[in-house]
Amino acid sequence: MIYTSTRDKNVRVSATEAIVKGISEDGGLFVPMTIPTLNLVDIEKLMRLDYIGRAKEILKLYLTDFTDDELSMCVEGAYKAEKFSSPEIAPLYKLNDTASVLELWRGPTCAFKDMALQLLPYLLTVSASKQLKDKKVVILVATSGDTGKAALEGFKNVPNTEILVFYPVDGVSPMQKLQMTTQEGDNVHVCAIEGNFDDAQSGVKAIFGDREIAAKCLEKNYVFSSANSINWGRLVPQIVYYVSAYCDMVNSKTVRLGEPMNVVVPTGNFGNILAAYYAKQMGVPIGKLICASNENNVLTEFLTTGHYNKNRPFHCTTSPSMDILISSNLERLLFALTNQNAEKTADWMKALSENGEYTVDDKTLAAVTELFAADYCDDTETKRTIKKIYDSYSYLCDTHTAVAMHAFAAYCAKTGDATPTVIASTANPYKFSHSVLDALKPNAQTEDEFETVDKLHDVSKMEIPAQLATLKGKTPRFTRVSKKEDMAQVVFDTLGIN
Ligand SMILES: *Cc1c(COP(=O)(O)O)cnc(C)c1O
Repeated sequence: MIYTSTRDKNVRVSATEAIVKGISEDGGLFVPMTIPTLNLVDIEKLMRLDYIGRAKEILKLYLTDFTDDELSMCVEGAYKAEKFSSPEIAPLYKLNDTASVLELWRGPTCAFKDMALQLLPYLLTVSASKQLKDKKVVILVATSGDTGKAALEGFKNVPNTEILVFYPVDGVSPMQKLQMTTQEGDNVHVCAIEGNFDDAQSGVKAIFGDREIAAKCLEKNYVFSSANSINWGRLVPQIVYYVSAYCDMVNSKTVRLGEPMNVVVPTGNFGNILAAYYAKQMGVPIGKLICASNENNVLTEFLTTGHYNKNRPFHCTTSPSMDILISSNLERLLFALTNQNAEKTADWMKALSENGEYTVDDKTLAAVTELFAADYCDDTETKRTIKKIYDSYSYLCDTHTAVAMHAFAAYCAKTGDATPTVIASTANPYKFSHSVLDALKPNAQTEDEFETVDKLHDVSKMEIPAQLATLKGKTPRFTRVSKKEDMAQVVFDTLGIN
């Protein structure tokens, strides 16, 4: 399989090259030139496999310069049973006949990022051994909270790798911050920046695009790569769980083989929902893709009007992992929906970076609205939804998942569509204890994070993940706060480059 850039169709790279580089030199994102397909017979075979078996079959179609042995080693290492709190890895929880929750937070850091970031270090290590010989890889990460921890956990002590995570100093939950700043490992580095997630992401992208910085690092044998969802190696593992969810929906007789399911995804950088789109393109019977946003509703507007406009207030919400106004992976969708028109895609991205907005043509908008529905809600609605879902089903969901639940209810009310639906659940509620407890028992939360965790446990009886409980009393290792203009200096300091 050949990959190209969303901004230059002359680019031709293999999967391992795409994974090592992370982002194309022209600023575009790597995408497969053709999407492999699955027919119903293929899906029937996948239905009989476990998660690891399904992952191997699907990844094989995309990562064609990996050997079967290499892929087996990667997948088996990533989805080891003891690292996940469910033997099914990504289990479905059936709320009722139309709604099933896809629990993507059963991994080591309690957020869906683990699904990809447990695998990416393996994929990157194999790719680097083929592409880079004896160079060291520096993983730069911008995080809205969950990617950072999941990437640190995935890459800790991986040989020949350093990882540096930038997070917005006031933009993550207390638990997210503590998870990152207490991270163990010899090759891990964490720095807060004075700014929001978009500042962190733009800063990291700028470092990737800076040839002078690259040359300086190369002198010390370092090359950069990315663990953000701009890296194809992050996206491809996410396709697996949508295929797997469909298999489980058929196995549980919630849908009949060949009949569609809808998918709802709480969305920030558009990586997760894009993976669902690719699964649909592969032939998995998926109906509507329902994009759920919080008050940072730039995607709701875009997916319904074709106008992308980031010139709007940035809201810090109770679903901070979705506090994003520049959704990077939308670029991949635009490339696909314009029949792989790299010039058009590049023009829109240029308009976005220069003016903060662009509007797609009518044909592209028609393709978008055919595929997607979109809705959003504010924090008050989010809270109400957590309470409603808990009261109706005794099911506790986190703030991000609640945003998706709300969008699903709004979609059903608007359209009357009763297609069985998978709702992506992206985090364990204890990662956002403060807001979740506030929803169930207003104002019971306190400043002490772990007191709040205990109270949430008293109210909900849901098990507290050990990996969060044991953070209590740990002293942060990483306390640096940097200006967003100084991110390159942080990189140099971290790598010992003058
Ligand atoms: C990252 C994240 C999201 C957003 O996912 P994208 O792939 O960036 O759209 C939603 N919820 C949680 C909990 C997350 O960590």
